[in-house]
Amino acid sequence: MTSLISRHYANEHYATIFNPEYGFFARLEEPGYPKPFWANHGPELIDISVTGWCDRHCSTCYRSSTPERRHMLFSDYETVIRQAVKLNVEAVEKVLKA
Ligand code: SF4
Repeated sequence: MTSLISRHYANEHYATIFNPEYGFFARLEEPGYPKPFWANHGPELIDISVTGWCDRHCSTCYRSSTPERRHMLFSDYETVIRQAVKLNVEAVEKVLKA
């Protein structure tokens, strides 16, 4: 059974829930407050694109991936993860604690 990750951002009057198994994420505003447009404290989740390489040649590719594009350097990946941990990004924290 998947454990949901939830956080309450009291100063910003909303909470988040995240399901790390399915990627479901939602912001829930406190009653009487508007839906939060963005997080003032920093990113809640990040998507990391580790490669632009792909040999499928889909005409509808949303990433413009090709076999000529490259993979992300592992050192860059580490840098992104370290920065995400410092910013308290929820999904990264979960991965590192798992
Ligand atoms: S959509 Fe793009 S990344 Fe996905 S399989 Fe097709 S070419 Fe590859």
